Amino acid sequence: MIFYDVKCSGGHRFEATLKSMFDDTPPCPQCGAATGRVPAAVGLSGSADPGPSREQMPNTWHGIRRGDPETVRGWHGLISKREKLEEKYPELAGDRRPVLAHEGVFANAPLRAGDPLAGKVAEATFAPAVPPRVERDQTKPQLRKEVDK
Ligand SMILES: [Zn+2]
Repeated sequence: MIFYDVKCSGGHRFEATLKSMFDDTPPCPQCGAATGRVPAAVGLSGSADPGPSREQMPNTWHGIRRGDPETVRGWHGLISKREKLEEKYPELAGDRRPVLAHEGVFANAPLRAGDPLAGKVAEATFAPAVPPRVERDQTKPQLRKEVDK
């Protein structure tokens, strides 16, 4: 849900929640007139939306909707913007060292190039891990059912 400041042609102002930024604004609850979004006030400090961080960007085939061209183009635009921003403000770039391992014990804290391996393994091993996976009972009651048929 996204909150928007909305104003109708009669001048009533209210806040509307939209599921996506592409949704139309609802009619005015007071007079029923059509409404439009009120442009967000421009901050005097000149702060801009930094957009999604690298961690929030998709890194899987599924994350880019299986290569959907429009999704890829959209993300490409955001990534290009982010790169320009990080060039200007390197502190926003975060840890850019290559990830060497991100599965198993490193699922919560990826191992990056330059990390002390033993320290990272100990840290990952003693950290509260994902609850143990319940092994399925292999005593085959399901199989027996099929045999009975
Ligand atoms: Zn109104």
